[in-house]
Amino acid sequence: MSEEFRRVDGRKPDEMRSYKIKAHVLKNADGSAEIRLGKNWIVAAVYGPKEHFPKFEVLHDRAILNCRYHMTPYSTSERKSPKPSRREIELSKVIRSALEQAVILEEYPEMSIDVFIEVLQADGSTRVASITAAAVALADAGIPMKDLVVGCSAGKINGRIIVDVGEYEDKEGEADLPIAIMPNLRRVVLLQMDGKLTHEEFKKAFDMALKGAYKLYEEQINALKSVIKNMEVLEGEDRE
Ligand code: ADP
Repeated sequence: MSEEFRRVDGRKPDEMRSYKIKAHVLKNADGSAEIRLGKNWIVAAVYGPKEHFPKFEVLHDRAILNCRYHMTPYSTSERKSPKPSRREIELSKVIRSALEQAVILEEYPEMSIDVFIEVLQADGSTRVASITAAAVALADAGIPMKDLVVGCSAGKINGRIIVDVGEYEDKEGEADLPIAIMPNLRRVVLLQMDGKLTHEEFKKAFDMALKGAYKLYEEQINALKSVIKNMEVLEGEDRE
């Protein structure tokens, strides 16, 4: 296959879109983060740990992790109903199950931690970008975690394996493979596949998504380091 193959947005098959993660972007939440990944623009906010209500729901050996993934009506080119769709309810569960594997919930029995994800602008691969932002928001809230969680997608379009699937590629492509991992523990916490891939293609796609995830992990760390740096500057100013 020719080296010149370019995707609809001009990317090479193994090229990510541009990305930027910022932590601590909201004043009132206990923790927050924002991710820009191509035209995706997603904000995650965390409240907790806090006493859980209603009481009959509490778990006596660990905290409950609540997660809401929501797309704003203006996140898509045609107005989306603000009401949570079946897809959003499903994605909330999928994202919770990925994050739950990293958060040390046993430290907070009978309490709950809320994660709110707002997709301000959607452009494909929002579930993995949401996980990436939510993990930073959890860390920003000081929630103990075994590791960060970071997600990336790969897919197939016109017979080519590609990384970081955009909206057009998601709709027109032959397959989509979103994954999320705990990067230091080297554990997969989310693996979904839509479409068909051969074993070889799956391996290639998985490796590409993994590489993408490790790049985003570096950006997560940079975002968290910037928050610490800003805190140190502010503390220094207080002492002066
Ligand atoms: P993911 O965002 O994780 O890839 P999907 O595969 O379900 O999840 O969605 C692919 C893309 O389709 C989304 O990222 C978004 O850009 C677009 N999309 C999802 N839901 C809607 C909707 N209700 N209206 C228009 N576009 C949508």
